[in-house]
Amino acid sequence: MRDPQGVFTWRGIAHRMAQCPRIARNLVGAGWAAPYTVIGLLLGALVWCAGGRMRRVAGVCEVVCSPTLAAWLGRSGFAAVTLGQVVIGISACELDRLRLHEHAHVRQYLAWGPFFGPAYLGCALWLWLRGGQPHQDNPFERAARAAERPRDA
Ligand SMILES: [Zn+2]
Repeated sequence: MRDPQGVFTWRGIAHRMAQCPRIARNLVGAGWAAPYTVIGLLLGALVWCAGGRMRRVAGVCEVVCSPTLAAWLGRSGFAAVTLGQVVIGISACELDRLRLHEHAHVRQYLAWGPFFGPAYLGCALWLWLRGGQPHQDNPFERAARAAERPRDA
């Protein structure tokens, strides 16, 4: 039997989604980004086993490296990385400093789901082939940097 509200049509589904509470939409986004979140959680568990700490901030799992691991990773210039809904950083201070940027990446993962990695890397490759900066000029990084700035009223 067909729902008179059109729930079985794309338009009906979109209408219902717009009415869903935030938590339901977050669950859909979380499922969409789950492959990357699983990788982030596995990597985060390794960091945690190596003496790191985990905490939940605004629905995001943040993993702080142990001082020893942070010193080793910090030599390469690494500060933080986002994988799905997991952010791994070298210190709590760095995570605080980079939170708006990294949480913008979390929202990108939730929006793009499994296509985030290929889209990000595709942009990086395209930029590199054209002589640009694969990381600095990447539109995903530009959007994340824009999220760091306060919006005009
Ligand atoms: Zn970034």
